[in-house]
This record gives sequence, structure tokens and C-alpha cells, in this order.
Amino acid sequence: MKEEKAKTSDGGNKCYAFPNKPTPSMPVVIDETRCTGCNKCVTICTTDVLVANPEKGKPPIVMYPEECWYAACCVGECPEGCLTMRHPLMMRVHFKNKETGEIKRT
Ligand code: SF4
Ligand code: SF4
Repeated sequence: MKEEKAKTSDGGNKCYAFPNKPTPSMPVVIDETRCTGCNKCVTICTTDVLVANPEKGKPPIVMYPEECWYAACCVGECPEGCLTMRHPLMMRVHFKNKETGEIKRT
């Protein structure tokens, strides 16, 4: 089968990927002032939500936010502590027992 390349200004020799900006969710927020670009969070992320920045030493890119499992493995792996989870609204709801005052999550 003949391989077809996309017609781009560079002759179709490069592949570009961009974060999905229209996606409203941003499951992890990276403090770019503290990130060293070690990419440990990228390595631990099994669903490839995070991808390494093409510029060495820069923070990873949240490429596929809609694929996040919200297990926070990346948060635990970051040696600088600069990742913060942003759970969806439904996951932030707590339920309080009126009688005991105990707070529960679903
Ligand atoms: S919470 Fe899990 S799936 Fe989501 S970005 Fe972190 S490691 Fe990846
Ligand atoms: S693990 Fe932390 S310091 Fe390393 S690239 Fe990810 S966010 Fe940056």
C-alpha cells in the first residue's frame, strides 16, 4: 500500500500535536514556576494525559485531559510537589450525616 503524507508547508515531513483547548476540563494543573521538566509525571501517567514538552526542561503538556482517571498518580510522583488535581464537580460533592456530622463521599 502506498504511504500518503499530509500536504503541509514543510512537505509533510513533520507531525504536530496540540492540546485540546476546547475541552473544558483541566484535570491537572502544573505550577510552571516550580516544575523542573523531569517528566516523571509523564512516565507514570498510563493514559498519556500528559506528554513531554518538546522543549527540554519545560513543563509537560496536558494533551488529553478527557482521558484522565483522577487517580493522582502523577501528583504523588512529582518530586517538586507542583501538580494539583482539579476534580470534576461531581467528584467534589460531599455528603454529611445530619445526626453524626460525619462527612462522606460517594
Ligand atoms: S491523575 Fe492519572 S490519568 Fe490523570 S494525569 Fe495524573 S497520572 Fe494521568
Ligand atoms: S513530575 Fe513535577 S517537576 Fe517533573 S515534569 Fe512533572 S510536574 Fe514537572
